[in-house]
Amino acid sequence: MIIVPENQIAELMTPADCLVAVEEVFASMAKRSAYNFPVIREAIGYADALYGFKSGFDRANLALGLKSGGFWPNNVQKGLANHQSSVFLFDADTGKCRAVVGGNLLTALRTAAASAISIKHLARKDAKVLGMIGAGHQSTFQLRAAVEQCSFEKILAWNFHPEMLSRLEEVARELELPFEAVELDRLGAESDVIISITSSFAPILKASQVRPGTHLACMGTDTKGKQEMEAGLVAAATVFTDEIAQAVTIGECQHAIERKLLSRADITELGAVITGRHPGRSSPDEITLFDGTGVGLQDLAVASAAVAHAVSRGTAIEVDF
Ligand code: NAD
Repeated sequence: MIIVPENQIAELMTPADCLVAVEEVFASMAKRSAYNFPVIREAIGYADALYGFKSGFDRANLALGLKSGGFWPNNVQKGLANHQSSVFLFDADTGKCRAVVGGNLLTALRTAAASAISIKHLARKDAKVLGMIGAGHQSTFQLRAAVEQCSFEKILAWNFHPEMLSRLEEVARELELPFEAVELDRLGAESDVIISITSSFAPILKASQVRPGTHLACMGTDTKGKQEMEAGLVAAATVFTDEIAQAVTIGECQHAIERKLLSRADITELGAVITGRHPGRSSPDEITLFDGTGVGLQDLAVASAAVAHAVSRGTAIEVDF
């Protein structure tokens, strides 16, 4: 069995490697050669923790396994990240455990890859202004991955806790892009692409604040009850997602579905755009929206790539198991 510890991931996997792996698995999902199993997420009644599994099987790449972990809110006091996860990969021919891979950095990289892929396929090619909503742990990964997809000339940002915006400003400075902290009205009025990555449980951005032609990558809503976009904005957009079953239950679409403003038939898997089965954006004025709910197959894809890189570079730790 191979072990790839958390502290090796940064050396092994670039954002570009993650984009390739996630794009490939989104395409496999659309071809029905890869599928996710139902997600388990439980409040365990200890340490205020939320613990769960995301699992699946990608027949094309023989990636079988799960990501397990969750949210431990008191970890900060212990000097640890609140989100903790590990990926377990199994041999699809024998069921033997093939690898254990640190999943913390990979989660941030695969989530950023998903929104970057949506920007690559759905944003207007002439997009110049990137709007960021959210300034937590994931936000800098999102920003770094997004700027690889379009020739952005400016970053606008808003956060519920404005004091956190300095971390995005620092990254923008490093990327040599002008940065402004703005109100939501201005962010919506000037942005060509907007990424939302917050843990909000109430709508932040309204339909009236978004201009025609915008691409929205909604990445924060991954649980029942969370919400970043007004339901009417989701209904007004052409909606894409990683997985429809998750979008309508735990994703940004859940509220528009509940209010019958949107139906499952209105939602397209991003994989269908990647494989060319769906044309994606149909006009420069269309508002496109990607509901990125985060699927287990993304985790298996990036963890498999990390194992392959560790093996090819001779850094993989092998143990008898
Ligand atoms: P974080 O705790 O580091 O940051 C939280 C962010 O949400 C901050 O910007 C904070 O200001 C904002 N926020 C907190 N309370 C808010 C409120 N009441 N209203 C509006 N904004 C509020 O979290 P993170 O690690 O950056 O993750 C952000 C979100 O992304 C979480 O909801 C997380 O579950 C989700 N996530 C999604 C995926 C996916 O695949 N889609 C993957 C990882 C994380």
